[in-house]
Amino acid sequence: MADPKGFLTTGRETAPTRPVEERRQDWNEVYVPGGLLPIISKQAGRCMDCGIPFCHNGCPLGNLIPEWNDYAYREDWQAASERLHATNNFPEFTGRLCPAPCESACVLGINQLPVTIKNVEVTIIDKAWDAGDVTPQPPERLSGKTVAVIGSGPAGLAAAQQLTRAGHTVAVYERADRIGGLLRYGIPEFKMEKRHINRRIEQMRAEGTKFRTGVQIGTDLDAGKLAKRYDAVVIAAGATISRDLPVPGRELKGIHVAMDYLPLANKVQEGDFVAPPITAEGKHVVVIGGGDTGADCVGTAHRQGALSVTQLEIMPRPADERPAGQPWPTMPALYKVTSAHEEGGERVYAVNTMKFTGDADGNVSELHLVEVVFEDGRFVPQEGTERVIPAQLVTLAMGFTGTDRSNGLVDQLGLELDARGNIARDGSYATNVDGVFVAGDAGRGQSLIVWAIAEGRSAAKAVDAYLTGVPSALHAPIRPTDRPLTV
Ligand SMILES: Cc1cc2nc3c(=O)[nH]c(=O)nc-3n(C[C@H](O)[C@H](O)[C@H](O)COP(=O)(O)OP(=O)(O)OC[C@H]3O[C@@H](n4cnc5c(N)ncnc54)[C@H](O)[C@@H]3O)c2cc1C
Ligand code: SF4
Repeated sequence: MADPKGFLTTGRETAPTRPVEERRQDWNEVYVPGGLLPIISKQAGRCMDCGIPFCHNGCPLGNLIPEWNDYAYREDWQAASERLHATNNFPEFTGRLCPAPCESACVLGINQLPVTIKNVEVTIIDKAWDAGDVTPQPPERLSGKTVAVIGSGPAGLAAAQQLTRAGHTVAVYERADRIGGLLRYGIPEFKMEKRHINRRIEQMRAEGTKFRTGVQIGTDLDAGKLAKRYDAVVIAAGATISRDLPVPGRELKGIHVAMDYLPLANKVQEGDFVAPPITAEGKHVVVIGGGDTGADCVGTAHRQGALSVTQLEIMPRPADERPAGQPWPTMPALYKVTSAHEEGGERVYAVNTMKFTGDADGNVSELHLVEVVFEDGRFVPQEGTERVIPAQLVTLAMGFTGTDRSNGLVDQLGLELDARGNIARDGSYATNVDGVFVAGDAGRGQSLIVWAIAEGRSAAKAVDAYLTGVPSALHAPIRPTDRPLTV
């Protein structure tokens, strides 16, 4: 146990952020660099090592949280990093981006504020990188088996790293020009600087994983031929089809799905453009969708110099406290103030968009909305509540409807889909096609990074067993595959 009295003597303290005015002027991560170090050991000491650590179950990776809390409390950072990597390939991603379902399940959270598990995680891994403790782990011998991984998001990267370390020869195919999936193109720099992806890729290359960018499987390379060329295939192609909003005026210029807008801001940070082709600069911006993708649009628009930012959500405002129907240790749907929301903008709940109207040049200029109430399974507009707000840039961040079926990948392999439009798989992540497996959002629908890594590890274990014909020694979380958890 870390500090036997820590939970009684120390209050919860989280990572300090930079002043809003300062961080709105740049794209760096919002946190004070090194700000956690003075407080984190004491925070780790709040862990009670409570005997049945529900946080293990709350974390889809089954992270060994009380063990690394204990090492962090004792400032044995090397041992903490070893325990952290035992279950998680990329704690620098989850430590920055995870909504931390582990903290919702922390036993201390029953009657106090939970342990700052995510902050401890990111401190351990950042210190490990700084100390040079994160080194390549190439396999001792090669199996002679080959695996193609399609997609380089967290699921594909986790599967590839596990399979490479098991001795298989792995090539990752990515249609984008850079590796990383939504970590690279989607999630803004101010939530996670891309240097964290780059150094992991270097580590993976040194271990032997091969990367091929700019190759869309199904279009540039026939998926069936690829499957014949490799002993196994892992599809980790994400759930990238955005939900649209077919209302009058949708065709006006200036209305974009969020994933047409956010990656351009990422590309500016990568040095591809001086200015983004779609920008919020000098515009009244409306973001439709109240989730994390919407929050990323809010933070991006502020940094680009928007005149105003309004975020619309059709659902009512969530509760501030855990509702009775979502008891501990479940992850409740609560009102969240993300770093992007701290930076400004207005959030409007329980409204629906009726139509857009535009100017003489076909540019969107106004959004017409109405308040709604959820009754009998549908959103009922409330008469007399219609109003018009200025909207010169509109981003649609209303979720995703499944994996891309348009590029040939699904059809060329003859893959079956489930009722929700995801690639169907069994409990071993195997699709209906022999030797073809699926992991991450492509199989479970748009979810979380922690789930993508967990599924990548689980699929790698299944592939390893398939290739070798014996049970795999690779570690993988013991979790069901069928629990959707959306952002
Ligand atoms: C804007 C945004 C913000 C988010 N923020 C968070 C967050 O803060 N925290 C969190 O936990 N989750 C967040 N999520 C969700 C999270 O990013 C995803 O759940 C996660 O990235 C899924 O990982 P994946 O590997 O399954 O797929 P992805 O990350 O989507 O990667 C799939 C990759 O496959 C490639 N690909 C697709 N088809 C092909 C093909 N035919 N050939 C070659 N390559 C192909 C794609 O180009 C892509 O790079 C966010 C999602 C979005 C959209
Ligand atoms: S990966 Fe997420 S759920 Fe797991 S320990 Fe880290 S913050 Fe918690």
